[in-house]
Amino acid sequence: MKIGVLALQGDFAEHQVMLEKLGSEVVQVRLPRHLEGLDGLIIPGGESTTIGKLATEFGLMEPLRQFGKDHAIWGTCAGAIFLSKDARRNQPLLGLMDIVVERNAFGRQVDSFEVDLPIAAFSQEKANPPYHAVFIRAPLIESVGKGVEVLSQLEDGRIVAAQQGHLLATSFHPELTADDRFHRYFMELAK
Ligand code: GLN
Repeated sequence: MKIGVLALQGDFAEHQVMLEKLGSEVVQVRLPRHLEGLDGLIIPGGESTTIGKLATEFGLMEPLRQFGKDHAIWGTCAGAIFLSKDARRNQPLLGLMDIVVERNAFGRQVDSFEVDLPIAAFSQEKANPPYHAVFIRAPLIESVGKGVEVLSQLEDGRIVAAQQGHLLATSFHPELTADDRFHRYFMELAK
């Protein structure tokens, strides 16, 4: 298994550590040719405007859109924004996932928080305790299109994880905890 991490900006190194622990080969993607031969791609958290700007500069927008047509892509936080079709602002987006996101929906850096979430999609695991999720200036998934499955919601119903076939979006940062269930779930998608 060979997974790419988009390494333009943000916490791609943490994803790489997690993936390597799980036995995947990892490629840092900075140029279109780095996508060749990958089974899937993770777009990390960071700053979605910066990621979008750099992806445009490096000629990655179209190659990423093509790659996402038939390969697994998972966006965490800023990565989820970049995957979306609408962030209610003018910034470069891949537009692959039929989700509308609201950036910085929970406020500023100081309003970052952690919460335990039930994730039904992990029910095939031996044990399925709540998932401890870390939110850092996180986006909300405001609404999802018809073909999109909601994977997790906060207690008040607001959506924080969604899946559209081989595309995955999480508002939070699974690469910042020791819980590897999301990474294993993604590797299954990429197979
Ligand atoms: N606030 C950032 C954005 O809007 C996302 C933050 C993150 O990825 N932790 O792009």
